[in-house]
Amino acid sequence: MKKPAAIPSNESAMGHYASAMVQGGLRLTPQRRQVYEVLMDKRDHPTATEVFIRAQKQMPSISLATVYNCLETMVGSGLVKAVHVDREPTRFCANLQEHGHFHCTECGHVSDIGFSHTREKGWKLPSGFLVTQHDVTLRGLCADCGTSSKNTNHSKSKSHSHTNSNDKPLTQ
Ligand SMILES: [Zn+2]
Ligand SMILES: [Zn+2]
Repeated sequence: MKKPAAIPSNESAMGHYASAMVQGGLRLTPQRRQVYEVLMDKRDHPTATEVFIRAQKQMPSISLATVYNCLETMVGSGLVKAVHVDREPTRFCANLQEHGHFHCTECGHVSDIGFSHTREKGWKLPSGFLVTQHDVTLRGLCADCGTSSKNTNHSKSKSHSHTNSNDKPLTQ
């Protein structure tokens, strides 16, 4: 019943986008769609500036202020997650499945990590406490940095290309 009529449904992501926008009471503006497309396109948790640079390639007229605006609106409606990593600029994530983040302190890459169904069991919650949302960021070394840290060759870090493409899909 919430099926978006005017949106091409060949891509489930955009279908999801449309229904989420409708549910959040948001208008489907081309700018919002563009920003969301950028986030869905490469799941590497870009900052607002990075989103802007990528969005601009497809939509040269879009401004940084508009991108900020779109991101803020979509975070507010729960369509996008804001990821805060220490003192770095906020990053954005369009993965709506409940997940945590792993921040590699060596290369700075942020990857999505799934929760197991028994995740609450890992925490010593006081009795009566109810978890409604998880906002978890783990820090450490990613697989590449963990194995390369032995030779302490930091100039190598440039050659890391942590594309998220082979990450386990967290979509349902
Ligand atoms: Zn790393
Ligand atoms: Zn994420």
